[in-house]
Amino acid sequence: MREEELAIHGGPRVKTDAFGTGKRFGAEEAKELLEALEQNTLFYHSGTKVKTFLRRFNELYGVRYSVAVSSGTAAIHVALGAAGVTVGDEVITSPITDQGTLIGILYQNAIPVFADLDPRTYNLDPASVEERITPRTKAILVVHLAGTPADMDGIMEVARKHRLKVIEDCAQSWLTRHRGKLAGTFGDYGCFSTNDFKHISTGDGGIVTVNSGDEEDFQRVHAFADKNYRRFSDEVMRDPECLAPNYRMTELQGAVGIAQLKKLSWICGRRHAYGERITEGIRDLPGVLPPKVPEGGWSSYWFYMFRVDESRLSCTRDQFALALRGEGIPASPGYIPHVLYRQKMFRERRAYPGSDFPFSLSDVSYEPGLCPVAERILATSIRLPVSEFFTEKDIDDMIRAIRKVARYYAKG
Ligand SMILES: *Cc1c(COP(=O)(O)O)cnc(C)c1O
Repeated sequence: MREEELAIHGGPRVKTDAFGTGKRFGAEEAKELLEALEQNTLFYHSGTKVKTFLRRFNELYGVRYSVAVSSGTAAIHVALGAAGVTVGDEVITSPITDQGTLIGILYQNAIPVFADLDPRTYNLDPASVEERITPRTKAILVVHLAGTPADMDGIMEVARKHRLKVIEDCAQSWLTRHRGKLAGTFGDYGCFSTNDFKHISTGDGGIVTVNSGDEEDFQRVHAFADKNYRRFSDEVMRDPECLAPNYRMTELQGAVGIAQLKKLSWICGRRHAYGERITEGIRDLPGVLPPKVPEGGWSSYWFYMFRVDESRLSCTRDQFALALRGEGIPASPGYIPHVLYRQKMFRERRAYPGSDFPFSLSDVSYEPGLCPVAERILATSIRLPVSEFFTEKDIDDMIRAIRKVARYYAKG
């Protein structure tokens, strides 16, 4: 069979029309915002919008308690603080994630420890997590990357065996499920982001679930997001036991959140269908490895990332991505530039200017080769955007482009 000429070589482009777009915010958000302003207060404790946002979230997630915060990063920091993570503790996490996963660990002056990943789900491998446990390990901070659930059976087993806290980073994984249970409800705390790039947006914002359902636990989380003040009635306790930041959500964010939450299930449903459709469309291709969702899992595909097997192709990963771009598909090589432990901060073991604290408390390794699977994932993956506003034709064009490029470069 004669292969079709690639667009980068002057052939016809696969994608000739624009990708679907749409409006994320409309009359419902405007109505909620106006009501928030008419309250004459934008403070979460005085108004009703953040409270209503959380009540609806709790119903959707089947949890008794959650706390609203100013970002996903804040949500994770709050969960770590509430879990008692403190100076010199080790927290095991993923080397492929957003910076927001790490920030709270280092602000608690705790030590990030990186475990390796599953080569096809890009999420933590429970066996590698267990290998990295030391007497100083306090918590596992598990990331559900790109909408796909981590192996929570395996992670929870390791955590129970070693009595570790589990915090779930669900910033990219709204409505993600594992064996019918929602990501964010397995561990002690689940952390969500509503920054402007996530499934739903409040501009910035976040939520922490309190999965114990215990009131004291809830009060600890709540206080840690609000200066460690205890604001549970009209009488406010302003004599904090320990340091905690101010990560409060405002009524404006809560108002937008109420309206956005109504769209969440449609958004995640579309993204799920589109992600699965791409996998179906490319799974038979030589040299192309679609992402895997674990058995019994459900992904809400924040993005779609597949890997290439360069041994079966006559091109590199970068050439494959470039060829896709030539076909009109906005593909990017990899995700973050390198595994997190190769960031300057870890190479030089410096988080605070002029200080080597807290790294000086630990001899944990950040050497290249620490997580070989994670390093291979970043070196061999190609990321495609997924949007609920794409059309089925957009997805089929993506599939056609991947098929065209893979066939062109297929060896033998
Ligand atoms: C977006 C994101 C965060 C941080 O959320 P912000 O709201 O931007 O602070 C944390 N972890 C992951 C995996 C993310 O994608």
